[in-house]
Amino acid sequence: MAIFAPKCDRCGQRTRHEEKGRPLCEDCMQKMQLMLDAANENVHLCPVDSAAMQKEIAHMIVIDKCPQCNGVWLDGGELSKLTHDVQADAIMAVTRGYTIGMP
Ligand SMILES: [Zn+2]
Ligand SMILES: [Zn+2]
Repeated sequence: MAIFAPKCDRCGQRTRHEEKGRPLCEDCMQKMQLMLDAANENVHLCPVDSAAMQKEIAHMIVIDKCPQCNGVWLDGGELSKLTHDVQADAIMAVTRGYTIGMP
């Protein structure tokens, strides 16, 4: 048994968690799971310019971001999750410079 925990493959944080034999911290694993779930969701079209929006992970929620106008779309549940789980300044960091599409 190693004295030091191995470093996470993705972020370099030390972790004893493993995925398929590679060190992977629980944060990164949660993010990967979110990305997998997001990949199965329908692609949303930007309400402003109808461009196909790209999925991004921010503060452990999936957001849809428009590559053309940088607009960000939050599904109904995601917005309340965001306001409940994170500090106001974190919300500002996510939404700064973006318009938020409300359902
Ligand atoms: Zn990690
Ligand atoms: Zn757009």
